Amino acid sequence: MRYDVVVVGAGPAGSSAAREAALKGTKVLLLEKRQEIGSPVRCAEGVGKAGLEKCEIKPDPKWIACEMKGAKLHSPNDAVVELSESLAGNEVGYVLERKIFDRELAAMAAEAGAEITVKSMVTGLIKKDGKIKGIRVLSNGEEIGIETDLVIAADGVESKVARWAGIDTSLKLKDMESCAQYLMAGVECEPDYTHFYIGSCYSPGGYVWVFPKGGTKANVGIGVLGSRIPKGSPGFAKRLLDQFIEKHSHYAKGKRLELIGGGVPVTSPLERSVADNLMVVGDAARHTDPATGGGIINGIRGGRLAGKVGAEAVEEQNFSQVFLSKYERAWKEAFGDSLERSLLVKDVLINLDDPSFDGIADSLAGYGFEELGLLGIIDALQEKHPELLEVFESI
Ligand SMILES: Cc1cc2nc3c(=O)[nH]c(=O)nc-3n(C[C@H](O)[C@H](O)[C@H](O)COP(=O)(O)OP(=O)(O)OC[C@H]3O[C@@H](n4cnc5c(N)ncnc54)[C@H](O)[C@@H]3O)c2cc1C
Repeated sequence: MRYDVVVVGAGPAGSSAAREAALKGTKVLLLEKRQEIGSPVRCAEGVGKAGLEKCEIKPDPKWIACEMKGAKLHSPNDAVVELSESLAGNEVGYVLERKIFDRELAAMAAEAGAEITVKSMVTGLIKKDGKIKGIRVLSNGEEIGIETDLVIAADGVESKVARWAGIDTSLKLKDMESCAQYLMAGVECEPDYTHFYIGSCYSPGGYVWVFPKGGTKANVGIGVLGSRIPKGSPGFAKRLLDQFIEKHSHYAKGKRLELIGGGVPVTSPLERSVADNLMVVGDAARHTDPATGGGIINGIRGGRLAGKVGAEAVEEQNFSQVFLSKYERAWKEAFGDSLERSLLVKDVLINLDDPSFDGIADSLAGYGFEELGLLGIIDALQEKHPELLEVFESI
């Protein structure tokens, strides 16, 4: 078996890469280790409208659970700051049904001509004279080899493919959010606002989120910074989430339908996202926003760029790291700056104490954010809590 391009992992990044390469007439294989694309969902399922537009994806009621007007940020003393949808970033706009969304992206790849195989786990790279020449796949209990000159690693946060190719993918505890989330039914929550609870009283180095999913359903989850989890405390994130839910009666009356766990990288992107015969995309390349943990939009954008460059590499028959660096330059131009800025924001936020969060919320609560703008925010802080201004100097 031989393909021009093999994409490992059928999440948003992998399906988008496969589609883009196939659209250019390249022979593509997309491999997914799970038996169902899109399931189980390990995501709060929030995406921004502007982000989807950048991905050239038209909103479709099939995969939209809810449309959001904006976000409400809750401080430790429960002062609420409201952000409009357009200011709230890449994760606020729609709450998706990712089981359907991810399948739809894979279907789009198939329609473009990509082959797709599920229940097929890539177990290693085939190398000759140090160069990648194919992959090994465990499919239906049988290990087979597939030849290719180009592998796109879209295998998510626990990516092994990039490591096998010699790229350092190790993550420190301080660079990772450990998450737990319930899909709940019977909760009382505003249907058109996502809620974020920020401060160490909710989550050390992270936050709690409540994303409505229509009717009385909502994703209620938590991310805790790995380095803030006490040693020897398995299940710490879930315990904090349970405590949060019990303390909030409008959530506590709900029933838990599903529990998921997962990790989110909240650090700089991989220093090197290409090697000879290999490109790394999505969470595997740490393209998640370090301040919010959102990665769907960057995953799709980066995936598309890798697919395009992959097709060009096939046309030119040039799979060198130097040629594939075109992809690295393209994603840096598209969202490299915003990842850097978000990292600065994250570093500030994780070092703020709860009284500072309360001070910021106290300064900003009640303002109409559309009119406020950055200078307005600075004025508001100057007026009520000037001591907090220096916190933002590095951003
Ligand atoms: C709790 C939680 C909440 C989140 N909430 C949001 C949110 O609200 N908004 C947002 O934008 N982002 C959110 N994220 C992040 C978002 O889910 C990811 O950024 C996004 O899914 C990344 O897409 P991806 O295609 O890179 O990886 P993934 O979606 O993880 O897909 C990787 C795929 O590769 C497959 N795979 C792995 N190894 C192999 C192998 N060896 N062989 C074959 N297949 C393999 C996996 O099964 C998987 O299907 C959240 C993450 C978590 C954990």
